Amino acid sequence: MSDSQKFVYSFGGGKADGKAEMKTLLGGKGANLAEMSVLGIPVPPGFTITTEVCAAYYEGDKKLPEAVKPQVQAAIAEMEKLVGTKLGDPANPLLVSVRSGAALSMPGMMNTILNLGLSDAVVEGMAKKTGNPRFAYDGYRRLIDMFGSTAMGVDHEHFEHELEALKQAKGVKNDTDLSADDLKVLVEKYKAVYKAHTGSDFPQDPIEQLWASIMAVFNSWMGKKAVEYRRIERISGLKGTAVNVQAMVFGNMGSNSGTGVAFTRDPNTGADEFYGDYLINAQGEDVVAGIRTPEPIAQLDQEMPKVYEQLLGIRKTLESHYKEMQDIEFTVQDGTLYMLQTRSGKRTGSAAVRIAVEMVKEGLIDQKTALQRVNPESLNHLLLPQLDPKAKDKPVAQGIAASPGAASGKVVLSAEAAVAHAEAHPDVKILLVRKETSPEDVAGMHLASGILTSTGGKASHAAVVARGWGKPCVVGCEAVRIDEKTGTVRIGEHTVKAGDYLTINGTTGDVMIGQVATVAPSISGHFAELMEWADKIRTLKVRTNADTPIDSAKAREFGAEGIGLCRTEHMFFGDQRITAMRKMIVADDVEGRKAALAELEPFQKADFVGIFEAMDGLPVTIRLLDPPLHEFLPHDDKGQAEVAKQLGVTAQKVKDRVEQLHEFNPMLGFRGCRLPIVYPEIGDMQVRAIIEAAIEVKKKGKSVLPEIMIPLVGTVEELVFVKTRAIAEAEAVMKQEGTKVDYLIGTMIEVPRAALTADKIAEEAEFFSFGTNDLTQMTFGFSRDDIKGFMPTYLREKILPVDPFQTLDANGVGQLIEIGVAKGRKARKEKAGEHLKVGICGEHGGDPESVAFCHVVGMDYVSCSPYRVPIARLAAAQAVLAEGKTISRDR
Ligand code: PEP
Ligand code: MG
Repeated sequence: MSDSQKFVYSFGGGKADGKAEMKTLLGGKGANLAEMSVLGIPVPPGFTITTEVCAAYYEGDKKLPEAVKPQVQAAIAEMEKLVGTKLGDPANPLLVSVRSGAALSMPGMMNTILNLGLSDAVVEGMAKKTGNPRFAYDGYRRLIDMFGSTAMGVDHEHFEHELEALKQAKGVKNDTDLSADDLKVLVEKYKAVYKAHTGSDFPQDPIEQLWASIMAVFNSWMGKKAVEYRRIERISGLKGTAVNVQAMVFGNMGSNSGTGVAFTRDPNTGADEFYGDYLINAQGEDVVAGIRTPEPIAQLDQEMPKVYEQLLGIRKTLESHYKEMQDIEFTVQDGTLYMLQTRSGKRTGSAAVRIAVEMVKEGLIDQKTALQRVNPESLNHLLLPQLDPKAKDKPVAQGIAASPGAASGKVVLSAEAAVAHAEAHPDVKILLVRKETSPEDVAGMHLASGILTSTGGKASHAAVVARGWGKPCVVGCEAVRIDEKTGTVRIGEHTVKAGDYLTINGTTGDVMIGQVATVAPSISGHFAELMEWADKIRTLKVRTNADTPIDSAKAREFGAEGIGLCRTEHMFFGDQRITAMRKMIVADDVEGRKAALAELEPFQKADFVGIFEAMDGLPVTIRLLDPPLHEFLPHDDKGQAEVAKQLGVTAQKVKDRVEQLHEFNPMLGFRGCRLPIVYPEIGDMQVRAIIEAAIEVKKKGKSVLPEIMIPLVGTVEELVFVKTRAIAEAEAVMKQEGTKVDYLIGTMIEVPRAALTADKIAEEAEFFSFGTNDLTQMTFGFSRDDIKGFMPTYLREKILPVDPFQTLDANGVGQLIEIGVAKGRKARKEKAGEHLKVGICGEHGGDPESVAFCHVVGMDYVSCSPYRVPIARLAAAQAVLAEGKTISRDR
């Protein structure tokens, strides 16, 4: 770093050294102040000390480069010239603000000092000059407080204590009730607090104040709050914060002054309407603090018509210049308007879509830019019921946001209770609260409007199932303690009884007591239009994970181009089905199993018929039974006794079978293709149901494209075994029916060995679908249901950047996928002369970052839950647009 380097960039008076593109160097605030100044928008003059100085400060033992000082001095002189006042001159004082500003917004995380330049002498001069001693002394006491607490580490409470004591002594309630003389007294008290805690007098030299404040901003970059914020928001790679020193303007100089914050469009709906609030005779922090209720911005037209007109002009200038919705701050000092900030405005998903589409219509941006402007995740906002933004209810606990949307309902503590409740009161919404869920709970889960669990992570059973249905779900909420015996749930200090209302927000993980109002999802025309643009660009197809006709139809409505995973086990949980399934599991011999399977077959077939019909003309991948059998049997004595009664066997027999099926590690146990290898009749029944259903639907004149998928294959021999039986069964059915249907037989790649031997496997498989839930589990050796104990620590300690069950681990699991795709495609081409169709059906198929990875490795499709289909469509388009560059989103 050389000392001839430019460290300080001035702005104001219609010109600036910097510009908007220099965010990395000047921070967002500094770069945009420079840009506004050049655009001729009124900005109080000032200067920005670059982020490189912050970096040098930390590299160089907390010392600033030599050249910074003279450059700051020169910039102050320039500012003084532009404003026509002087720092420290009692007759004509310049006051400045010192603010942080990194390249990415970190609201409230770093220090700000206002009114800098006031001293015992200057405050007098200020009082005279403005004719408003109250205003002058109020500013001074605020400076001592802000400077003392942020630059010198004096606890703000000590100042607050003096203020409260004075208000009490004076018998007044509000700060504004204190007179100029009261504030003079308060200033003396604040100075005493300052001295008592720092050992020295409050500095009277404005330059000394300035340097201490600049240092305070640099120090706050590494403050606990800021470091934690960057960790949570996954902000890394920034040089540091810039420091903005700017001439103060005052919105609290009387009724001809004021301050406000506004958005150039409505950030909730995206409507092209000026949106914001202002307060007359107030400073910026008063608008945010909520002490007084601000007025809607349109009202300003009545109170200050000229200023309002000027603001409308600036709104237009900023939007046509930045070609993006802006979030602005302004102050009116004695009738003169000043802009203090502009930045790209945060918005809801619906607003993001509407703004992007309308800006294309207005000719501000092109379709590609519009597609890049919308964060795919934010589309959730358009797809699910949301908490009414007007609701004031406060959360009492927070868990992991597992499946978005809001749900209120009467608490039920078991799946059985959910079923019983739904039968008795079909119109009353219920919320299932459990420690965790298992496949046995599926019926109850389906009836609940939302699911809350006290354990589990984003890939836990509850999370995966809820997401699949688009059902709001919060998992791993540790504050929740369930006592099934007393029928109560303790949430922190609150106790809720079964039957009481509880609300969850699956978008944020919040849990609230009572019934919080929700608003219905709205899929607007803008949304459909944006999706059309995405479809034109993307090359990845998007399928869905669905196992009912209703979900299939829903997914198709959302643009799914087929089913990538139909988990057949979910079809075994209806009342009659589970009994037949249990009969099959408990049976002693093949004949017994076959008899039970024959009972199941019509159900399976009917489900497949429904799904094929819903997916007319689109491929449907049906996976053979996957989970370990013990998941279908109850584990408690009472449940086992009931099953025994239903099946007409002894309770001991059921108990013995459960014990026999017990596994130390069921996820690595008797499941997946191991089931139809040991019990081929299970696979036979499923294949028969698939082919019979396909023939039936084909006969109705529809186009059916079944794809039979074999799970958890690790060796080609496993695949060959199951495939051979499947082909034999399929051919037999077709012969019997006298009709042929085209079908494919492929495999999931979810065991690392399958990826590594993909060449061998592809010789036998007509398609691959990466099951990245299991592949992640087995590659890391992390049980997908048991990460709660260590994942938070792993993320906090940066051992992992993200939860790999949520976003695909490109470096590890990704390598296996790359190997699998490359080896598989090559071998299939050589063996069969055809392109091997490759997709993904793990939860990652709906995660935008993972979708981008799937695009890069050349997959043919991704498959995700119905409600994530639009998200994947947009993510797939962004993946094309991002080839060779990074995506900028409204984070
Ligand atoms: C997978 O493992 O990624 C997968 C889709 O299968 P399941 O989640 O049903 O194990
Ligand atoms: Mg799996």
